[in-house]
Amino acid sequence: MICPYYPEPQYLIYSTDVPSLLYYSHIPTAVISLLVSFFVFLKNKNLLSKILLTLSSAFLLWIIFDLVVWTNINSDVIMFVYSFFGMLTVAIFILCLYFLYVFINKKDVGFKFKLLWGIIFSITSIFAYKNAESFNLINCGANDGGWYSIYYLYGIELFFAAWIFIYGIVKYIREKDIDFKKQILLLIFGIDLFLLSFYTAIALASYLVEKGVVSDFGLEFYGLFGMTFFMGVLAYLIVKFKAFDIKLLGAQALVATQVILTASQFAFVRNNTNRILTAVTLALTFVFGYFLIKSVKISEERKEELQLMSTKLAESNDKLRKLDNTKSEFISIASHQLRTPLTAIKGFISLLLEGSYGQMTSDQEDVLNKVYTSNERLVNLVEDLLNVSRMESGRMEFKFEKTQLDGICQEVYDTFVLRAKEHKLYLEYIRPDKVLPEVMIDPKKVREVVSNMVDNALKYTPDGHGGVRLKLEQIGENLRVTISDTGIGIPKEELPYLFAKFSRGKDVSRLNTGGTGLGLYVGRGMIENNGGKIWAESDGADLGSRFIIELPLVQSEELMKKWG
Ligand code: ADP
Repeated sequence: MICPYYPEPQYLIYSTDVPSLLYYSHIPTAVISLLVSFFVFLKNKNLLSKILLTLSSAFLLWIIFDLVVWTNINSDVIMFVYSFFGMLTVAIFILCLYFLYVFINKKDVGFKFKLLWGIIFSITSIFAYKNAESFNLINCGANDGGWYSIYYLYGIELFFAAWIFIYGIVKYIREKDIDFKKQILLLIFGIDLFLLSFYTAIALASYLVEKGVVSDFGLEFYGLFGMTFFMGVLAYLIVKFKAFDIKLLGAQALVATQVILTASQFAFVRNNTNRILTAVTLALTFVFGYFLIKSVKISEERKEELQLMSTKLAESNDKLRKLDNTKSEFISIASHQLRTPLTAIKGFISLLLEGSYGQMTSDQEDVLNKVYTSNERLVNLVEDLLNVSRMESGRMEFKFEKTQLDGICQEVYDTFVLRAKEHKLYLEYIRPDKVLPEVMIDPKKVREVVSNMVDNALKYTPDGHGGVRLKLEQIGENLRVTISDTGIGIPKEELPYLFAKFSRGKDVSRLNTGGTGLGLYVGRGMIENNGGKIWAESDGADLGSRFIIELPLVQSEELMKKWG
């Protein structure tokens, strides 16, 4: 039967309460939501994207059916389409819950729930025909179907909306990851806003029609805007939390929209030139689109690979650090154990050499002297190793006090001047011409480093080849100690590695067989902990070296707090 009071054909809907453009404004939302879901689905065909795709399809179908109802004047068509509304609405609500569940738990729901949802949906379908009770010729629409439309459907919708809300909130409270917490909250907000606006608008419309306040169900269209919120939330989740890896999706959606728009030109162009132009544009869009998607895909894959590699790297770094710690611990324990017997050996050799156990023959004395030297080397090595492990584990203590560097330099000079003479080398100390201010440092540690540098300078200068000069001066805000020698020098390529652990020059063994390559490493750590800097300079092999230590006149607050 054709509605008698409506002209035919009816493209715009008759309603006194809402502007007709409103009816059509939902089509873009529905289409966009379907497109987004489709691309999400293409990107990863997991359960979540399947649910989203089904949900948007159901929603689009709902909109189409609704438009059919509003634009048609044939009662048979209207009554037929009307019967599907209940099923579609319940399906949308169930799918929303399903979506939320899978989004949160990242797995499918259990069988019991599916069974329950299946039963509810089946009952709805069985009574679907009851959705429209009779046809109203005056306003060209179906009358609501009694208990089914009024209690059953609204009850079920409310039930699912509450389920979504409560389930989501419980999961939100229990979740520990802050980012995911936000995602859950946003999703409940989006879904419930969509469902409730959808639901309340329809309920309100039917209530007002019944009360005679408005003449038709036009109000329900406002509720459909909830889908826009839902899509907005999804879009936000996608962009902000990369929930669906959108960069590629964005490119694909862009290309698809461009292709659809260009293709739709065919419907409007009237002459062949324009048709050819449109075809060329379409072909170009395809080609560029293809390359765009491909390049985005490659860049995304690279990014993923990089991410993976950096995670792996971080893991191996962690392992290495643990290994390094274990090694340091081992060295520390071993060195402590070694130190005691070595000290005992040293003591007894000294006693033997002094003749406390009887006079030695000169051969015996010779051998014992060799043992003493070797033992001394071991003692030094153990001491160096202990220093390294103390420094690396942060157990090396520093005690800052006001110190005259001049005093330290003088002491070091006094200690080495005889040895220099024995090796036919000069050792001079160039003092500053005025009394320098005192500095806050750990004098023992600084003395150790200066003395180590002078020791090295003498060691690495062949006998009779010049000598060593120790100089103290003030340079700006620092006091500088320079130890320069006329020895074997340092090749350019070795300079950058000089202060590294166990680093020794290539040709130094002939002058100093017992070296460990730890002295400079420990020395640098000590000077840095004293707020200073240490570095080496050399003009090259055989051209001598300069080791420079600079200590600040004013210590940083941080170091003062730590050691002061
Ligand atoms: P060691 O002297 O036990 O080898 P160091 O850490 O004190 O260890 O020195 C590391 C390396 O730096 C030495 O092996 C040597 O190659 C180089 N070096 C240190 N001081 C001098 C110097 N005065 N002249 C030339 N080379 C030096």
